[in-house]
Amino acid sequence: MAADEFSIIRRYFSTIGKASANRVIGVGDDAAVLAVPPDQQLVVCMDTLVSGVHFPASTSATDVAWKSLAVNLSDLAAMAATPDWFLLSLTLPQASEAWIAEFSRSLHEAAQTYGIDLVGGDTCRGPLSISIQTAGLVPREHFIRRSGCQPGDLILVSGTLGEAALGLQCDQGLVQLEDELASQCLHRLNRPLPRLELVDFLRQFASAAIDISDGLVADLQHMLEQSGVGAIIDSSRLPVNTWIREHKQMHYALYGGDDYEICCSVAANRKNDIEHWNNTNPHCQLTVIGEITESGFVLVNGPETEDLSPTRGYRHFA
Ligand code: ADP
Ligand code: MG
Repeated sequence: MAADEFSIIRRYFSTIGKASANRVIGVGDDAAVLAVPPDQQLVVCMDTLVSGVHFPASTSATDVAWKSLAVNLSDLAAMAATPDWFLLSLTLPQASEAWIAEFSRSLHEAAQTYGIDLVGGDTCRGPLSISIQTAGLVPREHFIRRSGCQPGDLILVSGTLGEAALGLQCDQGLVQLEDELASQCLHRLNRPLPRLELVDFLRQFASAAIDISDGLVADLQHMLEQSGVGAIIDSSRLPVNTWIREHKQMHYALYGGDDYEICCSVAANRKNDIEHWNNTNPHCQLTVIGEITESGFVLVNGPETEDLSPTRGYRHFA
């Protein structure tokens, strides 16, 4: 990029987030240098958000910055990793300083909120796209995989499902909501909250976990396939807002994307631990929505059952 790429990086991206104790060299050299504490393992992931694909082109720089980091942190949460540092690759159509300043402020706020340090990146010109690579830490072998579900385990989800998808439909004029609910749902879409508060719970109790980005059914299906098991879930137990329940629009919760809640499996003898969690964490309630079975994938809906095994979530290349 132009010569002032360097002043932009210095001004807006050299001190973002919370300084990591493991950072030896951060932004400004040819590469960053990071230490990994000897009793820990590094968990890394990367997510790209492209304008017009992952967010409407009209989305504010504030929301784009927040969401770009949050969706990565959600993957770390699902692995039961504690955020440590991240890299940012920013592709911008033009170096609009107002946009960059807003993006940088919001990225800093998100990074501070979740205690993660920006240690480097890349800046270039092109259609708006943001790639972030995050790294987190877990005590050796205490990461949680998708493949650990056991028949008899309870299936849990955090928070509520379907609001982000409802917000998107409302934004596109496909569904009418009253103003307050509409802005709540749009907020869920633009400002996902990675469930990092669940990291300790997952390390202690989860046999498997995944974050819900493509819809509950699609993401739970990934866990089932990788664990070689089945599941039965109950539509009436899905945690949804009253609008979705009263309008019988459970498809938002089942198939809608962008929730960034956690779905995990927990041994059935851990009911007391789940209850204790819920009594002490009012803002991150865990709901049992069903259980792991030997095979099949079934939705109970009142007196009816539906076979979910052939359904598919959002696929970029389908
Ligand atoms: P090089 O040309 O050697 O690849 P760059 O000019 O791309 O170096 O980057 C210089 C420094 O600025 C590096 O430390 C790099 O990690 C950092 N950097 C570049 N872009 C960003 C960004 N968007 N956010 C954070 N750090 C960045
Ligand atoms: Mg470079």
